[in-house]
Amino acid sequence: MKIGCPTEIKPQEFRVGLTPEAVREAAAHGHEVLVQAGAGLGAGFPDQDYRAAGARILPDAAAIFAEADMIVKVKEPQAGERAMLRRGQVLFTYLHLAPDPAQTRELLESGVTAIAYETVTDGRGGLPLLAPMSEVAGRLAPQVGAWTLQKANGGSGVLLGGVPGVRPGNVVVIGGGVVGAAAARVAVGMGANVTVLDRSVPRLSELDDVFMGRLTTQYATQAAIADLLPGADMVIGAVLVPGAAAPKLVTRAQLRLMKPGSVLVDVAIDQGGCFETSHPTTHQDPVFEVDGIMHYCVANMPGAVARTSTRALGNATLPFVLALADKGWRRALSEDAHLRAGLATHEGALASAPVAAAQGLD
Ligand code: NAD
Repeated sequence: MKIGCPTEIKPQEFRVGLTPEAVREAAAHGHEVLVQAGAGLGAGFPDQDYRAAGARILPDAAAIFAEADMIVKVKEPQAGERAMLRRGQVLFTYLHLAPDPAQTRELLESGVTAIAYETVTDGRGGLPLLAPMSEVAGRLAPQVGAWTLQKANGGSGVLLGGVPGVRPGNVVVIGGGVVGAAAARVAVGMGANVTVLDRSVPRLSELDDVFMGRLTTQYATQAAIADLLPGADMVIGAVLVPGAAAPKLVTRAQLRLMKPGSVLVDVAIDQGGCFETSHPTTHQDPVFEVDGIMHYCVANMPGAVARTSTRALGNATLPFVLALADKGWRRALSEDAHLRAGLATHEGALASAPVAAAQGLD
């Protein structure tokens, strides 16, 4: 099979669909890999690395889309890319179709067989192609929050780990899933005093076991959150209610309970945010202040560490890329119900019930 990897063109997207390591694996399976010139530069992979791994470098996206049987990307295809997709071609990437009727319509019109990373499942009820990005965003959260706490960046001037004789900072993590656990791990590692809240008692038990007393767990009620705000130096919002907008767990009025210069890191901003005062920001201008409280609300946090994110995503996608290439999409999906859960569109038909419901197409 000819596998194509174009350069990502969404603004501020530096990741790439295939690493040189993935190209080498695909080539070893007998596939031809076509990579657009410069596609890996944002993630630190020059063309010569792809060439050495066995890829053929093509000059532009048009050449990739014209030749490839399967396109492997990161972000949803942009309008110009959608115009190049065709019937008989497989597209494997993040799609996030539910809120995007224009993309849905154009994918259906193109006839492409589109498989969405974000709906591929695993045997434990998880989303294995979303989890790596949650791991990245979670681990970044205390790092960006710690930077924001510095005086020059508008923060209160608290060093999270403290020093001998000076108490560490207090970090409150709301939501103890993939993002929350990753954030807690880094915050604990920085020496902060960490509390994780969740609505799931089994999840709190797991965290309690894993961290062995190095953090406090607490059931997430409104009262518990209100109690913790006055002492918090950083609050990390990491909740997810699948298929719904994030619940607002800290109101504007509650900001007054917090110390000036404290920091809110709203990782859940891509689902609307879990603090009332949050709005999405960019890596260029990530932080804003409301009532003396600093807010970090970047909706695509993994983009800040494109190299790590590309490798993490590539590790998760590679087995599926190889299965699709080795077996063809039809057999690969019929043999793997988890990959089948990713099927979004095929030859003009919408395969995703949630997308159909979201757009009134059911
Ligand atoms: P997850 O499903 O693994 O974890 C979510 C947790 O939130 C669960 O443990 C759930 O029990 C808990 N929860 C739900 N409602 C709650 C409430 N009211 N109070 C307390 N806890 C509650 O999800 P995840 O992968 O950790 O993702 C968390 C959020 O981070 C999602 O909104 C996701 O889209 C977002 N995210 C953002 C970025 C970014 O760049 N900003 C990157 C990755 C993920």
